[in-house]
Amino acid sequence: MLPSRPSNGLSRRRFLARASSGLAATAAATLLPRALRAAPEMRRVGIVLVGLGNYATRELLPAIQESQHLKLVGVVTGSAEKGRTWAREHGFPERNVWSYAEMARLADTPEAELVYVVTPPALHAEHTIAALRAGKHVICEKPMAVSVAECDQMIAAAAAAARSLAIGYRLHFDPYHQELIRRAREGTDGPYVAMSGGFGFTMARKVWRAERALAGGGPLMDVGIYALHEACLAAQANPIALTARERPKKRPDLFVDVEEALDWTMEFANGGRAELFTSYADNMNRFRAEGSRGWIELDPAYSYRGLKGRTHEGPLSYPLVRQQTLHLDALALALRQGTPIPTPAALGRRDMVIVEGIYASARTGRRVTLQY
Ligand code: NAD
Repeated sequence: MLPSRPSNGLSRRRFLARASSGLAATAAATLLPRALRAAPEMRRVGIVLVGLGNYATRELLPAIQESQHLKLVGVVTGSAEKGRTWAREHGFPERNVWSYAEMARLADTPEAELVYVVTPPALHAEHTIAALRAGKHVICEKPMAVSVAECDQMIAAAAAAARSLAIGYRLHFDPYHQELIRRAREGTDGPYVAMSGGFGFTMARKVWRAERALAGGGPLMDVGIYALHEACLAAQANPIALTARERPKKRPDLFVDVEEALDWTMEFANGGRAELFTSYADNMNRFRAEGSRGWIELDPAYSYRGLKGRTHEGPLSYPLVRQQTLHLDALALALRQGTPIPTPAALGRRDMVIVEGIYASARTGRRVTLQY
């Protein structure tokens, strides 16, 4: 069934944060699991934000401030003035404000250990590789890049520098998604073989997200990627093939060289299927997975806060968390302790193989088999 189109446009930011509206900022306190609270003796990991846009400012900065194991030690920004304001307000030296062109100088800053790349996707590879070459660990936002070839270059750069590369898949640290993953791993509902859902919002005006040159694609790159990632988590497998169909554009003036909306079906080796959807013309934020013994549904599924979930046994209810704080603290702990990092680059590359497959199928009208 098609999601209904709302009468008024809803910005992406408001849509993602909507479920949390009404919460006072102070009430958005993170409830950290005991394991992430411990180790007060551990030296905090110095983190540098690259790109001080909406997500970095509104979500990642508070997450770092709330974290147990991180400390903001610098920024990379196109505005030196903005950088100096951040330095004053957040307590790091003005010498730790760099432009994008100066990222190689991170190498001379030992307190900068981890770099968070939060620029538009077409710049992820360049900024990630620059940080890795400067000897820093990196967490890069989703989508990892705009092509599998770029993902390969980023992974090669991490290997050459012997540094870690993670992707900002924050939902791995949300309790509703952790319950879905637990049920999938333990086979609580039987293997999930019927999955459905999607992620879309109504884009009110043209921004870089609707420009191929910066975004690499349309809503699939930006939000559809959540739905395909979730289906892989639910299936506990990567799809072997897919078929995709681009929907006719309602506003071709806004979506000149990217899709406005896409449907796709992913097939898994065990016969499981995922029917998924993404759009910049419809609001949708849900995921459902069914097995032979039961089901789980999340709606809203992908927001920062205020997720809701239920299973065939009844509603799920978990405490409020800040996903990004939990994610970043887990990453910092793994870096300090030398254990495997959460949400590694391989997941970002896997998702880009699927994204390229979806675009190829939508273009040709053919079923595409996926090679990873
Ligand atoms: P934004 O437009 O608010 O911020 C982008 C930042 O990149 C700005 O500071 C901008 O100045 C900078 N930038 C550097 N070079 C640029 C250029 N050539 N053109 C445009 N901007 C340039 O966007 P955002 O919403 O903060 O998204 C940034 C990244 O974070 C994207 O990769 C996006 O996919 C990701 N993101 C992830 C989540 C999540 O939930 N994980 C949520 C929002 C955004």
